[in-house]
Amino acid sequence: MNTLFAANLNFRSLVENYGSPLLVLDQATIRFQYTELQKALPNVTLHYALKPLPLAEMVTNLNELGSSFDLATNGEVDLVRSCGVDPKKCIHTHPIKRHEDIAYALDYGCNIFVFDNIVELEKFIPFSDKVKLLLRVSFPNPEVKVDLSKKFGCLPEEVLPLLRRARELNIPLYGLSFHVGSQVPNANRHVEAIESCASLLHEARNESINLEVLDIGGGFPVDYATAEQNDIYSFCTSIREALTLIPQGIRVLAEPGRFLSAPVITSICSVVGKSMRFGRPWYYLDDGVYCSYSGQIFDHVVYPKYTPYSTGVLKSSVLAGPTCDSIDVIAEDIMIPELEVGDLIVGRMMGAYTISTATEFNFIRKTPIIVIDSEREAEITPLFKKVA
Ligand SMILES: *Cc1c(COP(=O)(O)O)cnc(C)c1O
Repeated sequence: MNTLFAANLNFRSLVENYGSPLLVLDQATIRFQYTELQKALPNVTLHYALKPLPLAEMVTNLNELGSSFDLATNGEVDLVRSCGVDPKKCIHTHPIKRHEDIAYALDYGCNIFVFDNIVELEKFIPFSDKVKLLLRVSFPNPEVKVDLSKKFGCLPEEVLPLLRRARELNIPLYGLSFHVGSQVPNANRHVEAIESCASLLHEARNESINLEVLDIGGGFPVDYATAEQNDIYSFCTSIREALTLIPQGIRVLAEPGRFLSAPVITSICSVVGKSMRFGRPWYYLDDGVYCSYSGQIFDHVVYPKYTPYSTGVLKSSVLAGPTCDSIDVIAEDIMIPELEVGDLIVGRMMGAYTISTATEFNFIRKTPIIVIDSEREAEITPLFKKVA
């Protein structure tokens, strides 16, 4: 299977039944992505990082598949709790928290937390009989557009001093973690970070500091250029090799977000108006960068778009969103046939960091989502009813 399941949807009948714009979440794709990543990283516990697509449908489907979860906020705690997830399958990985955020996650039953400096470590003194801590290490990655090591993580040379301080304070330690950045072009940074953590784990062991896990974070990429399944098994080959370097008995976790969520959602929107401006056709759509296409701004991704039912000579055209702002353009120069009002535009790979960052600018409601299962052909369940 090379092409994603939802590619063959009847977009026209979905819009007739559920309106436009519309987002389609495919549960078969959730299962496929999870299974592929688990095969690529055997013996690694996958904690789905909720932030790219914090939806109950993601949580319940992944929970049934045996996934664990990575939370960072009280809202995310509420979401997994309402889905009946066992708190022992959750880790809380926000490096900066208030006292009450720690208490909130503990009240749910999640007791694994992350710290990366002394101030954060000391916040756990009152909770030292209840928690286990991961120390986040920073490996800056200039190769990625979303470099998560810039904001969080201690330097590798700070690791041993921080671990010693935690031991002095009698705060139980769990292990080391890192995040090399999102949508990485290759696994080089993962490998370097694993190698560096492997020696830090050995050094800690030599000082009798007992660590149980290495958490290799997220970053696993999808293929936005083709919108096809990418070969994640090959991508992870050097990661699997590097993991053989870590000390005996250390378990491995990962925190995939984008890989599990990006291919899961397909967007359908419609041409609402058209005009010729400066010699080029402009099409004004009912969804745009303030709405489902927000990732084109926040996540620096250009989503693959196509016109499933329009044919004819291809012309360089502009696709603009529904707000009155001129930055609300989702394609400046896309080769498409001439479109008419009512024609459909489909956007693929729109599950990660898209609707989670959508706004209601211009008082335009967020696009409703329907849930399908393209393998089981079960009933379609509208997830949100459009607000009138
Ligand atoms: C955002 C985030 C993730 C998910 O990263 P992806 O690149 O989407 O896989 C995982 N862990 C932490 C701590 C994050 O902040």
